[in-house]
Amino acid sequence: MSTERTTESCLRIVWIYPDLLSTYGDRGNLLILARRAAMRGIPVETLQVRSDQPMPANADIYLIGGGEDGPQALAAQRLIADGGLHRAVNQGASVLAICAGYQLFGHSFFAKGAKCAGLGLLDIGSDRGETRAVGELRGDIDPRLGLPPLSGFENHGGRTHLGADVAPLARVTAGIGNDGQTEGAWHGKIIGTYSHGPALARNPDIADLLLRWAIGVDSLATLDDTWADRLRSERLAAAGV
Ligand code: GLN
Repeated sequence: MSTERTTESCLRIVWIYPDLLSTYGDRGNLLILARRAAMRGIPVETLQVRSDQPMPANADIYLIGGGEDGPQALAAQRLIADGGLHRAVNQGASVLAICAGYQLFGHSFFAKGAKCAGLGLLDIGSDRGETRAVGELRGDIDPRLGLPPLSGFENHGGRTHLGADVAPLARVTAGIGNDGQTEGAWHGKIIGTYSHGPALARNPDIADLLLRWAIGVDSLATLDDTWADRLRSERLAAAGV
């Protein structure tokens, strides 16, 4: 796949394993991304790739969502065996990975009490937490990404430790995230976060960052984000900050 795109060519967005990782409504991220691209006149093709299908390596953006421990472990095994997602990332694809999807991008994670191998595409590892992290999540995003504060809803048992090859996506100001201090991680064009909501409904600037990375532009036409801004204000207030 060419990493150079023009706005004339079609932007391909893949939703990974809807049959396994759709528990927390994260498919909304696919709808939001496709809509925000279409509103800029960018032709979009969306693909939902089930776990019994080969993973195409030639898409521009890959989205993976949260899920329970069993489907999470199965998804990791199948993605490792398939190899298409690894090829896509190596060719420069952009990725948004949420919660279970974020954990399985790392070296290892725990599911149903067992340590499972991850894809090793992010330098992170996840352990079991003593308590489940459930509630509003807020963080100040890495200033290098130039984005407003992260808003999300988290619901996970695992805790995530970051290696030297990734940067935290945000510093936590409400909630737990990775460990109560940092939330999510990013490296190259991969973003991982514990933020459900879905994340892109609450954080449209992250949607636009993924689109900019995928298309290779520094800016996009401004959209009317009145409704997204209302949702953000309400949820940031609910986070108590
Ligand atoms: N099963 C994982 C955990 O509890 C992920 C949960 C989720 O995706 N919300 O940590």
